[in-house]
Amino acid sequence: MAVSELARSIIESPTLRLNEEARLLRERGEPVIHLGIGEPKNKTPIAAILASAAKLSQGDVKYCPTDGTPSLKKAIIRYTEEHYDKVVAPENVIVSAGAKQCLYNLLYCLLNPQDEVVILAPYWVSYPEMVKMCHGVPVVVTPEDGSFHPRMADIERAVGSNTRAIIINSPNNPSGMVYREEFIAQIIDFCERRKIYVIMDDIYHKLVFDGKRAPSAYQFTTRALEESRVIVVNGIAKLYGMTGFRIGWCVAPRPLVQVMTNVQAQTTSCGSPVMQAGAEGALIGLQSVVEGLRLQMQNNRDVAMRELSSFNGVKTYRPDGTFYCLPDFRAYNGSSVELSKFLLKKALVVTVPGREFGMEGHLRLSFAGTVKDVTEGIARIKWALDPTSPNDIYIGDKKLTRDWL
Ligand code: PMP
Repeated sequence: MAVSELARSIIESPTLRLNEEARLLRERGEPVIHLGIGEPKNKTPIAAILASAAKLSQGDVKYCPTDGTPSLKKAIIRYTEEHYDKVVAPENVIVSAGAKQCLYNLLYCLLNPQDEVVILAPYWVSYPEMVKMCHGVPVVVTPEDGSFHPRMADIERAVGSNTRAIIINSPNNPSGMVYREEFIAQIIDFCERRKIYVIMDDIYHKLVFDGKRAPSAYQFTTRALEESRVIVVNGIAKLYGMTGFRIGWCVAPRPLVQVMTNVQAQTTSCGSPVMQAGAEGALIGLQSVVEGLRLQMQNNRDVAMRELSSFNGVKTYRPDGTFYCLPDFRAYNGSSVELSKFLLKKALVVTVPGREFGMEGHLRLSFAGTVKDVTEGIARIKWALDPTSPNDIYIGDKKLTRDWL
């Protein structure tokens, strides 16, 4: 089939592919544990259900403004004031079908062909592909071995005359690391001096543990929003566990939002007003929902760390936030794709290969599921890899004996 070279060069989303593989195995009755999943198991917050149901029951679901319903934008403005201490205007906000569409739209509006975007490894799988889809060039900066924290000197070296933007995701998917405050301050200062946009992907910004906080980029710029290079992307998917609503937003200087609105008008017209009503419900409803989720994820993180610490040879960074960790499995296998396939086949556990995040030799494990899944999933991985663990394990009602170590 004749498809464009560019489209052909875009890889399949590995996380969505793994979701599908796990679904098919489960359908066949296999007791799969999904440690690849990127969403919490909570029920939709009641405020979101009631607000979207109310909109739906009016029986008047039509097109709405391209950049978002005025009342959702108002709720986002309030959220931004409360959580970022930043007052923004409606013209600074655009709502899209998830943070994912915001990021794509943003890159589409910022990049000329061959413009470069600096991406920090380990990175979210979609960044490099999105940059390529916008005819740009992803430039990956990798931290020194054994660390997930980027170094300013490496970033400065990677920046050239074609650099248009840098994407910062902290707390970070897949490592769970929150970048240091001094680092964010240095990045903002450097990028504003060099006229480079800083795209803050803040999709996990409230899911931070142990009393820490993810620093807001706005606190490090003295410029007014219109003159600033800081762009913030956020959404309800992770903070409220509302992945299926597909609502995200971007806060940016007005001319950029205007152009993004034109592009969105030509591609999606507008986001669904039913889902926007739900997002608004979540934002103005009881915020203890977010705190409940955060505490649950912190507890799951502790469980995951405890289970992983019993592994000989596996090195694990203790996540400060999100619901992912990225242990180093190089002591067992240097190829994360091979290892991930092996674990799915032998232990029926879904993991995501670190190679997809620019961190070969690691596996991303999600602890967003139940404590039982996290405990049993890691126990199965240990059984499959660690020769000091007992030879037999029960998976579902089947007793399996390890015969490969
Ligand atoms: N950024 C990061 C770092 C993510 O992990 C995700 C979702 N996996 C997104 C953006 C996209 O979020 P949404 O579901 O709102 O499109």
